[in-house]
Amino acid sequence: MNVFKKIGSAFAVALMVFSVTAIADDGEKSSQEQSSVAATNPDDANKGNEKSDKEQSKTERTLCMIKPDAVKNHKDKEIEDMIKAAGFKVVAEKEITMTQEQAEEFYKEHKDRPFFKTLVALMTSGPIKAKVLEKENAVKDYRKLMGATDSAKAEKDTIRGKFGTDKTANAVHGSDSPESAEREIKFFFKDGEIAN
Ligand code: UDP
Ligand code: MG
Repeated sequence: MNVFKKIGSAFAVALMVFSVTAIADDGEKSSQEQSSVAATNPDDANKGNEKSDKEQSKTERTLCMIKPDAVKNHKDKEIEDMIKAAGFKVVAEKEITMTQEQAEEFYKEHKDRPFFKTLVALMTSGPIKAKVLEKENAVKDYRKLMGATDSAKAEKDTIRGKFGTDKTANAVHGSDSPESAEREIKFFFKDGEIAN
């Protein structure tokens, strides 16, 4: 009788150990399965980053220069106020007087145009204020705020419409594309000089 009891309880213990192991195995397997599903489903893997990538890509930087004519006429403060009121953040700025070489390099895409000499003469005639502006769609929106190249044709509520004198002395510069903005920002600023 005692022997049967012992065999019986040994069998019961063995059965318990076996079933606990089976549960543990099962648990392990299903969590492995889950993680492999998550890793191989590209939709799931990208879901977390997708929104923030899109949001980040909307924030742009553009280069603004307050040209020597506007600095001489003391219009730089009013121009900066207009820029800030339009929602741009000024993340870097400096005042420099461009050398002939710098002005020619900066405007090299226009080197064969009839106005090139006049433009370089204006840009080297006194200090300019260079600013890096940040905002969603900064390039397009700042071009809109600047107005047409020819001050006489620029809308009256634009920077050029208000403060420009003619086709050359048109108060401000603004990058014409994100690619130009990158080149033009690097022309004046080192990475460490731009606020994050
Ligand atoms: N410019 C000029 N005469 C022209 C066209 C342009 O003196 O017929 C000058 C003006 O100062 C202008 C700059 O050259 O801002 C660069 O010309 P662009 O066509 O790139 O105009 P923006 O992009 O400045 O509007
Ligand atoms: Mg241009």
